[in-house]
Amino acid sequence: MSADDSRPQTQRYVFRFGGGTAEGGARDAATLGEKGAALAAMSRLGLPVPPGFTISTDVCGYFHANGHTIPKGLEAQLNAALAEMGLAFDSKFGDPANPLLVSVRSGAATAMPGLTGGIVNLGLNDATTEKLGQTAPDAAETYAHFIETYAVNVLGMDEGVFEAIRDDHPGGPNWAAVVTSFKAAVEARSGKPFPQNPALQLWDAIGAVYASWMSPHAVRHRTSSGIPDIPGAAVTIEAMVPGRALAQGTVRTRHPSTGAPVLNGDCLVFAHGSRDALPISEAQRAEAPSTETSSPDLFASSSANPALPLPPATSLESLQPKTYALLSKAALKLERHLRDMQEIEWIVADDQLWLLQARPGRPTTNAALRIAVDMAEAGIITKRDALMRIDPRELEHLLHPAIDPTAEHRAELIATGLPSSPGAAVGELVFTPEAGERARAQGRDAILVREDMAPADVRGMQAAVATLTTRGGLTGHAEMVARGMGRPFVSAVRGTRIDEANGLLITPTVTLREGDIVTLDGATGKIFKGRAALIEPELTGDFAKLMTWADAVRRLKVRANADTARQARQARLFGAEGIGLTRTEHMFFAAERMLVMREMILAENEAGRRAALTKLLPMQKQDFIELFEIMAGLPVTIRLLDPPLHEFLPHDPREIAEIASDLKLDVARVTRRIRELSEINPMLGLRGCRLAIVHPEIVEMQARAIFEAAISAGEKTGKPVTPEIMVPLVGFAAELVFLREVIDRTAALVRTESGVSVAYQVGTMIELPRAALAAGEIAASAEFFSFGTNDLTQTTLGLSRDDAAPILAAYADLGIIAADPFLSLDVTGVGELVKIAAERGRRTRPELKLGICGEHGADPKSIAFCEEAGLDYVSCSPFRVPIARLAAARAGLGRG
Ligand code: PEP
Ligand code: MG
Repeated sequence: MSADDSRPQTQRYVFRFGGGTAEGGARDAATLGEKGAALAAMSRLGLPVPPGFTISTDVCGYFHANGHTIPKGLEAQLNAALAEMGLAFDSKFGDPANPLLVSVRSGAATAMPGLTGGIVNLGLNDATTEKLGQTAPDAAETYAHFIETYAVNVLGMDEGVFEAIRDDHPGGPNWAAVVTSFKAAVEARSGKPFPQNPALQLWDAIGAVYASWMSPHAVRHRTSSGIPDIPGAAVTIEAMVPGRALAQGTVRTRHPSTGAPVLNGDCLVFAHGSRDALPISEAQRAEAPSTETSSPDLFASSSANPALPLPPATSLESLQPKTYALLSKAALKLERHLRDMQEIEWIVADDQLWLLQARPGRPTTNAALRIAVDMAEAGIITKRDALMRIDPRELEHLLHPAIDPTAEHRAELIATGLPSSPGAAVGELVFTPEAGERARAQGRDAILVREDMAPADVRGMQAAVATLTTRGGLTGHAEMVARGMGRPFVSAVRGTRIDEANGLLITPTVTLREGDIVTLDGATGKIFKGRAALIEPELTGDFAKLMTWADAVRRLKVRANADTARQARQARLFGAEGIGLTRTEHMFFAAERMLVMREMILAENEAGRRAALTKLLPMQKQDFIELFEIMAGLPVTIRLLDPPLHEFLPHDPREIAEIASDLKLDVARVTRRIRELSEINPMLGLRGCRLAIVHPEIVEMQARAIFEAAISAGEKTGKPVTPEIMVPLVGFAAELVFLREVIDRTAALVRTESGVSVAYQVGTMIELPRAALAAGEIAASAEFFSFGTNDLTQTTLGLSRDDAAPILAAYADLGIIAADPFLSLDVTGVGELVKIAAERGRRTRPELKLGICGEHGADPKSIAFCEEAGLDYVSCSPFRVPIARLAAARAGLGRG
């Protein structure tokens, strides 16, 4: 170690705690780490914590500098603190006659995987163990445990080495012999004997904690969670309490799965000779089997019913009522002070209760909601705090079934894809939409497996409980339909192949056949072999309360993307304030409509198209009536037909022949027409407003359906409907001028025919960079803009949304991109275009309404961007509306 003189001598790195006081004043978790800050708070509150100190995060950087220099003054501060700790227990660090032993724990401002695990009983060596052995019969076992954790955490050795040695002692280890073998294993690996000098042990342990801040695991976690590399880790060193341990355990101040204000935890009560973990309280015992052990075996079939563990016979509360009472009082005092659920480690030694460490509890989402709402209602935290405590993305777990987290680690993960539509499902594999429909008709749950999804496959998706594709992406149309339906969907499953002819799904590790059971989690993109235990979603009153609080503070409105009556109802149930996007092409999936749609597409001239459109008109009108009635006066944005027409046509010769026969057309003619319509990159061809300009009769039909439906629904509900007609994929202002004229003309016609005048708005999607740049001109004929950020991302990045998944996966692995731009808005590029368009559009038309309806409309980070850019609303799939409501509130609070 060499001292570094570059900092002033007076800088303090070591902050002591214990004995009812703590150094460091207002220093918090950023300097002391979560655990260090909690220990300081506990000591100041007068709670019984053993003496100790925290070395601040300021030191972390020194350990990454060349040569592992340590700041000047640290060593002296540390030695002084150790000496004081010894005084409290009449012992001395490094003194073989009367050794002070310590624990070393890593900490950071927020809990983080990848940091060095805790080490206890540091300071033990051959001499001190011998001394301890005079009074403590288990001294050798304690020493062995220390050597192992030290070797694993500080020297980076593999746990398996030590496990193997222990297993070599059938009939119970001879601990003295195990110690000898452990030391030999360390020497063999490191080339040096196990360190006998406690000071050396301590400095190496400190160094290991600071070094672990840059471990690949920790770095990856910070990158993916957006946590900065500064300030770093802290190290907390605490005296091991002397005396005979009578009981020890963990106590939580709230129930981790319900959030109820009751103590919960596990403990060992040595005083009563038992080595079994016991519950803390009698109430918890009555809850048997305990939450920790009750989850059914992941793949046990329901008939196998595994033997449930016996409920524990007793609890800390009944065995040691005095300890329980003390613990209860201390735990509540700490929770009240730190204003959050706590998880506390404690020990009773020689009749004295000590609290060894505390950190925020890790409740389930529902429990976290209850805790936040309870605390806000009790005035312990503000409503604003409550809103900021719940991660909006976590709400996803409350809205869809999830895999039981206590069982997931036992599941066999076979593949991972993109989390395209959340929710978990269990079902048998089927490879065609027809097989999905058959399974459903027979009352079986199917998971549809396809390479890719075509609109014609959607019926299979509707019949299945979940869908998996090996291609596709987050913003593929099938994936969006799944999200609208609230059905799980995993797309772009990596390294996996489908052999449809033989009904095989071939993953890197297994080959599954048609009928095999899998569990799929659309929230994480994970696919497991077999049947996993699921937990059903549950919305509590606390959820509704938090939503009301969010609504009270947010500025951004939240609408839903909804294409069907069912989705519109769902959207209202979840609090949507209108529809921000109805994709009219999603209204043609039903078989009879698909046929008329195909008739329209295959028509060779305008007259033929008009004939088919006349048949489509009443269907469209009926759809719109339903949507308008459900939304009862709330705004409804209907987008004109967008996708290229060939998407509606089959490519399989058998299906082509069927259609030709249904429509009484010549097979060769149908095949030729399909070839004419097919495109190399369908996402940039004859679609959006281009389609409408080439075939204005389609727009006439759609506009007429909208106006007639508005009249009908307005009369029925008594609430006038002001439809917002949205034109997709505009690039030139003249395109919108052209289509606006068609729409206005149709409105005038309907007015003349019906004698009723419908107020309406015409607006456009901003989906092309040119549209964003020409927004000033476009706004002259648009009353609103809706940012179609799925397409705007595709067109700005020049990256096809259908083919991007493997490229983006490779980019993420290489660290080229931090987040999928189709999931979280690319603020630098796409975001800049959104800002430009908003600014130029509003310069032309100050009252221009601005919204976003791409998938980013439910992503909390993108919503924060929308708040900053001054948009009026976000629109997302119905099941994500609550997420958007909370995220919008937090975005507003974050700014204010
Ligand atoms: C978009 O492009 O963002 C959008 C909402 O339209 P679609 O996803 O239907 O192309
Ligand atoms: Mg689009």
